[in-house]
Amino acid sequence: MPNKYTILIVEDEKNICTFLSALLETNGYRAIVAHSCREGKMLYSSYTPDLVVLDLGLPDMDGAELLKSIRENELTPVLVLSARGEEGEKVRLLDMGANDYITKPFGPAELLARVRSALRAHRHAAEEGHFPGGVFCLDDLTIDYDARRVFIAEREVKFTQTEYNILALLSEHAGKMMTYSAIIKAIWHEPTGDTSIKKLQVNMANIRKKFGTPIGTKGYIVNELGVGYRMRSDME
Ligand code: CA
Repeated sequence: MPNKYTILIVEDEKNICTFLSALLETNGYRAIVAHSCREGKMLYSSYTPDLVVLDLGLPDMDGAELLKSIRENELTPVLVLSARGEEGEKVRLLDMGANDYITKPFGPAELLARVRSALRAHRHAAEEGHFPGGVFCLDDLTIDYDARRVFIAEREVKFTQTEYNILALLSEHAGKMMTYSAIIKAIWHEPTGDTSIKKLQVNMANIRKKFGTPIGTKGYIVNELGVGYRMRSDME
């Protein structure tokens, strides 16, 4: 039997568990299910899964408790399941080390894309670090890290130093939602406030303009209002 990825689902709603484990199993993953935070912790230590899909509203404890205990020693990717409109909650979990979140209700294609992308980003980080001397490719976008140059369909697009630094940061974490404060800290080494968020938004608007992505097409960068930005990965 090939070496399957093991995915731990921690969710108390039975129908979501059934849907998720069937979906993951048919797509070549091994799924194990926990219905509470306590059970999640137990299964986590006995199976050491490759990825965790974590619901926040669990009967015994806040799902964040499980994330916290995983992050004490491990970088295992964690995808958080959250309800619509809980922006503050999403930011809190991302800043605690969650890799991404999926808003309920979600479709199978979206979930599988996030799973692939989180597994890939994790593998990449473990094997190669920050793309040393490498090149990032996504559709017709290419970032050459050595030369600090960006190309779209083989034509160079000029970015300012700051814009380039933001692009490089997001691409190094492609597939991961990065909160405003994580980006601001990495780029400007500043605390997050209205001024720094504004500065980030202005730079992002310029980046978008230079990308010139036509409205209605899939952009390279996904913006989640009130949360942060995520560079798509080539797995989605
Ligand atoms: Ca729940």
